Amino acid sequence: MSKFTGKRVVVTGAGRGIGLAIAKAFAAEGANLAIISRNPTSIGSAAKEINETYPDSTKFFALDVADFDAVQETGKAIIDELGGIDILINNAGVTRDGLLMRMKSEDWDTVLDTNLKGAFNLVKALQRPLMKGTDPRIINISSVIGLIGNAGQANYAASKAGLIGLTKSIARELAGRKVTCNAIAPGFITTDMTDELSDDIKQGIISKVPLATLGEVDDIANTTLFLASPEAKYITGQVLAVDGGMTM
Ligand code: NAP
Repeated sequence: MSKFTGKRVVVTGAGRGIGLAIAKAFAAEGANLAIISRNPTSIGSAAKEINETYPDSTKFFALDVADFDAVQETGKAIIDELGGIDILINNAGVTRDGLLMRMKSEDWDTVLDTNLKGAFNLVKALQRPLMKGTDPRIINISSVIGLIGNAGQANYAASKAGLIGLTKSIARELAGRKVTCNAIAPGFITTDMTDELSDDIKQGIISKVPLATLGEVDDIANTTLFLASPEAKYITGQVLAVDGGMTM
């Protein structure tokens, strides 16, 4: 029996990359999951893949986290399906990179609506049932870019910095109900999001990382497991950079 056996866990953006790795890590520990992303085919096949190894562990929901009304409605369906919730991982995120000079208003809105408002929408939908959970946790996947900024990523940096402010405010608001809320700030992790970068840019990034390598999705999944564990019960409102030392 693991510390996560029977825990009810919701992970957004779990169709691939970091979110899928987080979902697999919780399933391996005996949790019951609801996983979310927009594309029904990819989130369905992610659930199928997890259930093949951990039978009946995972339900999937095709949902745009940026859509407030849809999130409230699906939130109810998730609670009905899982019978409650103990852990919420806000991981869904997108980039629409470009220098401010050329950034379109839609690029700003899409990134802020997904990365920041998406987390707000999920917390609004699930905070009441979370308060009734066992050792309840909210973990928001921010980014080192939210800490240090980046040329060409003003929208992304603002969304991820905003997520840190949201994290600290939730931590203060829900502390009285024993819900902890923390953020993880990944550095550069090998996923579809970073596969888009050219080899030159990747080498440039690696040269700034003291541990001299890109991170792996399991580095983030393992950190998420720790922050969700009973051992992390006295940690709230924190931002944990998992970045090979890039931002120390
Ligand atoms: P990814 O491979 O692009 O996966 C993103 C996931 O989010 C996909 O499953 C995608 O599925 C889902 N998603 C996107 N928009 C959504 C929406 N509006 N509603 C619901 N689901 C949505 O990204 P990743 O690299 O794994 O990144 C995961 C998180 O870590 C993101 O928040 C990212 O900003 C953060 N992060 C990543 C890195 C990195 O180096 N990879 C570094 C720092 C932070 P659909 O397209 O089907 O919706």
